[in-house]
Amino acid sequence: MKAAVLTGRRNIVVMEVDDPSCARDEIIIRTERCGICRTDRKAYHSGQRDLNMPRVLGHEIAGCVREAGKDFASFAPGDRVVIHPGLICGTCGYCGDGRDNLCDGMRIIGFNEDGGFQEYIKLNKRDEANILRIPASLASDMAALSEPMACAVHQKKMIGLSSGRVLIVGSGALGILSAKLWGASGAVETVIVDINPKKIKIASEIGLDACAGEDFAEKFPKTYFDAALVCCPTNDGLKTGIGYLKKGGALGFFSGLTDTSMETSLLNEVHYRELRVYGSYGCSLSDTKDALNLLPGVDLPGRLITEIDLEGVAGRLENIETDDIFTQIKYI
Ligand SMILES: [Zn+2]
Ligand SMILES: [Zn+2]
Repeated sequence: MKAAVLTGRRNIVVMEVDDPSCARDEIIIRTERCGICRTDRKAYHSGQRDLNMPRVLGHEIAGCVREAGKDFASFAPGDRVVIHPGLICGTCGYCGDGRDNLCDGMRIIGFNEDGGFQEYIKLNKRDEANILRIPASLASDMAALSEPMACAVHQKKMIGLSSGRVLIVGSGALGILSAKLWGASGAVETVIVDINPKKIKIASEIGLDACAGEDFAEKFPKTYFDAALVCCPTNDGLKTGIGYLKKGGALGFFSGLTDTSMETSLLNEVHYRELRVYGSYGCSLSDTKDALNLLPGVDLPGRLITEIDLEGVAGRLENIETDDIFTQIKYI
């Protein structure tokens, strides 16, 4: 099979590797779609302490079962599935509390294990719970959005607000999915802000309330929003989120900051205005299940998904800032 292998920093090689064989306690999944996100770009550019190379990246995976070992009695070839990428220990306190995204023994597909930038993925029986069936009405490209949507679901659960005004900072994948998710009930007014006019134009075209930087500052008074979701990795984005929150407002802190020299004066805002800060890291298995159930009802035009083939992966990862909202490797 073909695999795009990260062999060193900023070096991806598409190569032929052995097809996986299937033991009785194993299942082989054929990748149909795999999303490429900022996490993959970060791993490609900067590596990471726990990222051992060579490694096949890719954690936003939708596909179908090619072969199921005897122990996988509930799956058959052709079954359409997504893979929840967090392989958990199942025994630590966090796993016990259903906060498995914080599992002490977490191994992540596409980071600690080889992921979806290859044609087939093998999983063991112990990780069967991570294989989730795709609803019949959901196409594979939309199903591969279940991981980023699950991250949006996770953040929403953390904040727990059911009505009011929500500012979304960053009109990328998570920003767009969050706007769809929070706006679905009609009880929450959502506004997206971004410094990139192209991304704002895309968000506006699909019916979201979105503004570029200056228009936003003119249109909305400071202290207008009940919650701010910072869905971009910049200090300026974090400042915008904090700056427009009303007293007692909730700050969703989703993206790790790329510049970690944050001014500590920002923290005084948390103190003086009694802001509540909700860190949100990835998603749990139950968030991915929720995302799969929600996605058939989410209206997202297919043109927001840029399709590439495996040979195009290095080029997409090289370009860390992109105007594309979603990028996916399309296999079949
Ligand atoms: Zn991702
Ligand atoms: Zn655990």
